[in-house]
Order: sequence, then structure tokens, then C-alpha cells
Amino acid sequence: MTRFIFITGGVVSSLGKGLGAAALGALLQARGYKVRLCKLDPYLNVDPGTMSPFQHGEVYVTDDGAETDLDLGHYERFTGNPASQNDNTTTGRIYTEVLAKERRGDYLGATVQVIPHVTNEIKDFIREKDGSADFVLCEIGGTVGDIESLPFLEAIRQFGNEVGRERALFIHVTLLPYIPAAGELKTKPTQHSVKELMSVGIRPRILLCRADREIDADELRKIALFCNIDEDKVIPALDASSIYEVPLTYHKEGLDAQVLDAFGMEAGKDPDLSKWEQIVRRIKNPEGEVTIGVVGKYTNLTDSYKSLNEALCHGGIANKVKVNIKFVESTLFDEGSDEDIVHALNGVNGILVPGGFGERGAEGKIKAARFAREKKIPYFGICYGLQMAVLEAARHTAGIEDATSTEFEDQTGTHLIGLMTEWTKDNKKEKRGNEDDMGGTMRLGAYPASLKKGSKVAEIYGATDISERHRHRYEVNINYKDQLEESGFIFSGLSPDGALPEICERTDHPWFIGVQYHPELKSKPFDPHPLFTSFIKAAMDQGRLV
Ligand code: GLN
Repeated sequence: MTRFIFITGGVVSSLGKGLGAAALGALLQARGYKVRLCKLDPYLNVDPGTMSPFQHGEVYVTDDGAETDLDLGHYERFTGNPASQNDNTTTGRIYTEVLAKERRGDYLGATVQVIPHVTNEIKDFIREKDGSADFVLCEIGGTVGDIESLPFLEAIRQFGNEVGRERALFIHVTLLPYIPAAGELKTKPTQHSVKELMSVGIRPRILLCRADREIDADELRKIALFCNIDEDKVIPALDASSIYEVPLTYHKEGLDAQVLDAFGMEAGKDPDLSKWEQIVRRIKNPEGEVTIGVVGKYTNLTDSYKSLNEALCHGGIANKVKVNIKFVESTLFDEGSDEDIVHALNGVNGILVPGGFGERGAEGKIKAARFAREKKIPYFGICYGLQMAVLEAARHTAGIEDATSTEFEDQTGTHLIGLMTEWTKDNKKEKRGNEDDMGGTMRLGAYPASLKKGSKVAEIYGATDISERHRHRYEVNINYKDQLEESGFIFSGLSPDGALPEICERTDHPWFIGVQYHPELKSKPFDPHPLFTSFIKAAMDQGRLV
């Protein structure tokens, strides 16, 4: 029997609901249950694919090619279960379905309304998961009280009624702000938030109270009393020094046992959390540290690089070192002198150029790649970071001085990077044109690649056939392969048909690798991605101490 756990948030956004859901998922999994996590996002975009990273943070890509919310990254990293298209929906997607049905005439003459048609569509999304796991954890994006969330709250209220309290549980995540003048944590916003939730007919049975310091037992009792919740189900959720500590702290506060209790299930013996303990031990007791310069243009919102930050941390866990990330804003170097980039990157042990879109900041990234090549500093280029390394190699080592990308405004020059117009997906041809829609039309999701025997990447992966997740519109032009390879920049990974370059590396450098895909999406704390493990190792060996 599948049980459903709905997680809502109140008081403020960015409370870490996604992380809480992921941590609870991991705890239930450690107790031997099969879990599935999904997210309902109340915004009108069909998916976050067309949103700016500054708006939404990272777009997490699944194997089946969905562009999804970054919380799905937490779910996957914490549970190890690969996320899929059907684990995330939005108001935009729900309405798209409803309107398509209306046009088809599926509603048989009815007036199409939010209740029941939109709410039914939301319930179908949830119900489709019945039977797929012991527990389905369903996070509702946004904050209770938002206009946009209402149809979702109504849908989960109805769903809860339909399956009954033995199969549905509502957990509400709130904040207890600390007011320095009063010297205490305040419970009133939590009381109001629960009241707001009750006003739409949802009675939470567990409260996760986020706070930056210890919550007094008296305060917890007060919340229980005013919010009509069992005392032992008001659970303190204090800030943790590492996100990987969250499952351990929530377990200590009794979250997983209380969830089982709410469903009338026996908690039994404690779960084995030793793998989490080991990760936390390593994070807290590093044997050294390295600093990686991340040269990108979304650096003032580090959520834009969520999975990347995590993957670098995982590479550190694997090598028992702490990884400091130094974000370097690439747009500052577009016009700046080479000295500026030298100054900004001086002392880093490795340079990583992550994914990105558009021309702004591109020249800065090319300068970073050049600095890494010339100074023999480990360089890791991801997606755009590969494309910019190709332009750097072409311009400065292969004699193609006007090498450029069709993604840039000025269309003159030699296009080593061009719009991808045709590729193969599952034996079917995909075609794209310049005029196509922007949403969902990139080369998205898992694609296989064949690695060159004897190459550095083949050694790192310990394999020659791999599969990785993509999200890009442009590609490196294979026709320049020979010219680039003669200059020491080899194409060590290709699509199986040999048409699309997937990985390039320099043979004249200790560690210089660029990949067209996003390896960070598949890295996990207990299963670090081999490229990140190897990159951090190279950064340590490089010995340029901070
Ligand atoms: N802008 C580049 C492209 O679309 C790279 C995309 C990325 O880095 N994810 O191909």
C-alpha cells in the first residue's frame, strides 16, 4: 500500500522544504521502505527550462530529458533514485493538459473550472504514483497563502480526504525567527501559517520548525497547543553545518519515527544511518583543502550552480579534503586585461568553467581556459566550459584566430561551435531550426558516448561506454577535429555515431578536460562522480596551496 506525505511550507520561502523532503525520503529508505519523491510547482511556466538562473537557480535535468526544479537534484542525491519527467509538474503543465483536453472535447460540454478540472488534473498527477512505492513524498512549491498555490492545496486536501488519514499525512515546514531585541524565538508566524493552512481545510499533523538556534521545550509545547498538533510531532529543524547532516539531525529529533506513528505504523528498531555518519565525519574532519575557481556569470546566485557545488563537495569527500569554491564573475573579464584574470585566479588549485548561455561572459571564460592551459592548472570545462576551451585551443594553439560560436552576436568568423540542427535520440532523428521555440527544444537528457581507449577520460571512468545528461543547443563542429588534435587538443569522447564531440582533453597538460554534458547532475555524496573525484585529486596534486 502506498502512503502519501505532502510537504507544504509557510512563513517564508527558501526554508529548505526540498531538503527536508529529501532527508525524510532518505530516512524512510534507510528503514527499508521504497520511496518516491515529487514536486508540484505553482508557477505558470510549463517547466523551469526557460527561466533565468537568477530567477530560479539551476535547472535540473533528468535522464528522460525533463528540465525540472532543482529540488529534484536533492531528491536524487539523497535517495539515489533517478528522477524523471513525472516527478515534477507546474501550474503551466497542468493547464496545458487541461486546455488540450478542452480543445479535444474531453469535458463533454462542461464549463471548465479550477475545481474540479484543474484540481482533478493535479490529483491525477499524484494518483499516478500510487503503487510505485511504499511512500510518495510530494512537496508543494511556494508558501502557504500564495494565490498560485491554492489549486494545489485544494487538490491535496481532496486527495487526503479520498485516501484517508491512514494513507495521507500533511507535514508543514515553518520558521521560528529570532528577535534579538526580545532575545527569543517567535512562534506567532508559525501559528498564523498553520491557521492559514487550516483555513483551506488542511490540518498538518507534523510541524518541522526551522530555527537558527535551540528551541525551548516550552516554546515547542506552546506551538503544539496553539496549532493543535501532538507535542512529539512538533519537530525542531535547526540549521545544520552541512546538508548531509540533515537526515541525521531530523532522525535524532524523531521525524521518521513520528511519520510512521502518524500512519499508525510501528517504528521498530533504529535505521542504519552509518553511510550518512561517514559522509558527515569526512566533511567535518578534512585532511586538507583545495580551492577551485568557478568562472561563470551567475555567480551572485550560487543556487544556479547547485548540483555543481554539491559535486565538487562530493569530489572532496572522496579525497578527504575540503573544497573551497571561489566564484569568479566571468563578465568582468570580457573587456578586462589578462592581468585581471591572473589576479582573480591566482592561488586557485583548479579552474572550472560551468554551463552558461549567451555571449556575455564568454571571452572571460576563454581567458580563464587560456590561463589554466598556460599555467598548467587543472581545468574542467562543463558544457559551455568545453565550448569555450575549444575556442581557446583553436585561437591560440591551432591557428584559427577568428574561431567563434554561432551563439555569439557577431556572426563573422570561423564557427567551431554551431547550432545543433540534427541528432539521433533512441534511433530517431531529432531536428531543430533557428526559429524553433526555446522551451524544451535543446538536446536534453541522457545520451551515450564512446570514449577513446587509452585516453585520460577512459582511465577516469574505467570504461569506454558511458551515458551522461545533456542540456545544450550548440555543439563543437567535428570537422575541426584533425586540426585541433594536431595542436594537442584531442576529441576523446564522441557520440556513438561519431558525429558529435562529447569530450575533449589536452595531451600536453596534467588535467585539462572539457565535457559537453553535465556530470554534476549524477554525482552523489556516497557515489561521487569519477570526473569530480579525479579533478579534485588533480587540484590537490597540483600543490598550488592557498
Ligand atoms: N550555451 C551553450 C549551448 O546551448 C551551452 C549550454 C550549457 O552550458 N548548458 O550549447
